[in-house]
Amino acid sequence: MLSVTPIPALSDNYIWLLRQDNSQSVCVVDPGEAAPVIELLERESLKLESILITHHHHDHTGGLAELIKRYSPHVIGPATPSIEGIDEAVGDGDEVRIMGRRFEVSATPGHTLDHISYFTAGIPALLFCGDTLFCAGCGRLFEGTPEQMFTSLQQFAELPEDTLVFAAHEYTLANLVFARAADPENEDVKHALQECEKARALDRPTLPSTIGRELKINPYLRVGTDSVRQAAGSQGDNDNDLATFTTLREWKNRF
Ligand code: ZN
Ligand code: FE
Repeated sequence: MLSVTPIPALSDNYIWLLRQDNSQSVCVVDPGEAAPVIELLERESLKLESILITHHHHDHTGGLAELIKRYSPHVIGPATPSIEGIDEAVGDGDEVRIMGRRFEVSATPGHTLDHISYFTAGIPALLFCGDTLFCAGCGRLFEGTPEQMFTSLQQFAELPEDTLVFAAHEYTLANLVFARAADPENEDVKHALQECEKARALDRPTLPSTIGRELKINPYLRVGTDSVRQAAGSQGDNDNDLATFTTLREWKNRF
């Protein structure tokens, strides 16, 4: 069994740690800083075998240099020149083997142009989606177009509903407050907001989510519903799903 645990880092990042039962070898995803990873590895006498990177932002790569120097892991990520230390550059349609599982790489541009995500089928299915899909939200459009992000999110919507979603930031509370405005008729959002407030008051992570849950509460995956489309219409264009998505994403930026 493959277990996945969060290592909180920086102000609101999670570095996900993958570990196969009874193995001391582990993999981390998007190490934005090295110190909390090193601390955990030392405390539990673990060996860092590999690293997965989703995109070039510093809060996802800032720990790379020190971890490479210390553990010489196999580093997999996009072929972005600014990311130093990639051993295996991967892109859309590639497959990688990590912790005994086969992961499919997909291009998921929008937040950045180099953004990739990692999915492994099986029980449970796992998705590492960096800053593309968040619980009840999606990443900001720093480099890509709304259409690119919309297409990336649509790919995720087609994954099995029980897929565990490991996003890279604890943004759930702010996302759900926005979702309440963007999807006002949605009772699942109101309920999720209450649950999220409880979890955050206890400093518990709200991740992983699941694809099934996101289909119920994530306004960016619900642009075809009357509730979201009408709310978007009060803020801008809602002529079609992409227009509604674009309006939502811009609305969130000034929300
Ligand atoms: Zn980012
Ligand atoms: Fe980030």
